[in-house]
Amino acid sequence: MKIGFIGMGNMGAPMAANLASAGHDVTGFDTAGVRVEGVVAASSAAGAAAGAAVVITMLPDGAVLRAVADEIIPAMDAGAVLLDCSTVDVDSARAVADSARAAGLSALDAPVSGGVGGATKGTLTFMVGGDAAGFGITSPLFDVMGQKAVHCGPAGNGQAAKICNNMILGATMIVTCEAFALADKLGLDRQAMFDVVSTSSGQSWSMNTYCPAPGVGPQSPADTGYQPGFAAELMLKDLRLALAAARSADADTTLGQAAEALYARFVEDEDGRGKDFSAMLPRLERRGHQG
Ligand code: NAD
Repeated sequence: MKIGFIGMGNMGAPMAANLASAGHDVTGFDTAGVRVEGVVAASSAAGAAAGAAVVITMLPDGAVLRAVADEIIPAMDAGAVLLDCSTVDVDSARAVADSARAAGLSALDAPVSGGVGGATKGTLTFMVGGDAAGFGITSPLFDVMGQKAVHCGPAGNGQAAKICNNMILGATMIVTCEAFALADKLGLDRQAMFDVVSTSSGQSWSMNTYCPAPGVGPQSPADTGYQPGFAAELMLKDLRLALAAARSADADTTLGQAAEALYARFVEDEDGRGKDFSAMLPRLERRGHQG
């Protein structure tokens, strides 16, 4: 398939490389001049998009996506698919899909989970919003870049699924870390706590798969000095997107707001930037009841 790929950063570069090594004809563009093996370099976003059956974008945020979409939509062939894999706000995803559809294109929002490791190994999970026809055309590409793609409904629903998932993840990681810090102060051994909770009703992905306590549970960033993994500032970005969506949809997300406030302090006022989001545990174990 002829593919345009715009935004070849930490995630986009390995995704584009995997598509090229699977035999697709990939032309890429990145404002930072990134070159990826097997990917033909274009001199503009419109140049990468022209003549492609599918144009994939992997960009930092909704404002950049809107600007890039304004440039590439007029350059794309009728019937082509605009496949955005960035994590952006639901309103931007829906606005870009509306513009694409008005120009006779198919549009999908397909944010991912799995991080840089998943992008490199081709094991990402895609949460996809948009029309079924576009999902059918892009399915073979999801198979190359990932292990699973779930069609979540119309435009914007992929982003909705991603931010709902990550709001659960952020709040759950915090309370898991709070429980470990509390257990320490109560004299409860961390391994005993893990053995009980990971097989009881408090279990979660944060506890069972990504345990924030070093030396306890499966290998996780806690065992390598909290090198990310999933960086605290990326969790903060996703929690902010969840809160923006909650405001826009008039939803009550009390714990999501508390999680956003705590990660904002950790990243912006303390030493959390550049650390894994599970480094909330060493932060909490240093603190007392008054915060
Ligand atoms: P990144 O900053 O490494 O990559 C973004 C790339 O976009 C950069 O190379 C930048 O030069 C390029 N870019 C910016 N403006 C551009 C423009 N106008 N035209 C062309 N290229 C442009 O970010 P990343 O880590 O690759 O993340 C990309 C997206 O994936 C983000 O939305 C992020 O939230 C999401 N995401 C990241 C992870 C992760 O673990 N890194 C996990 C899941 C989702």
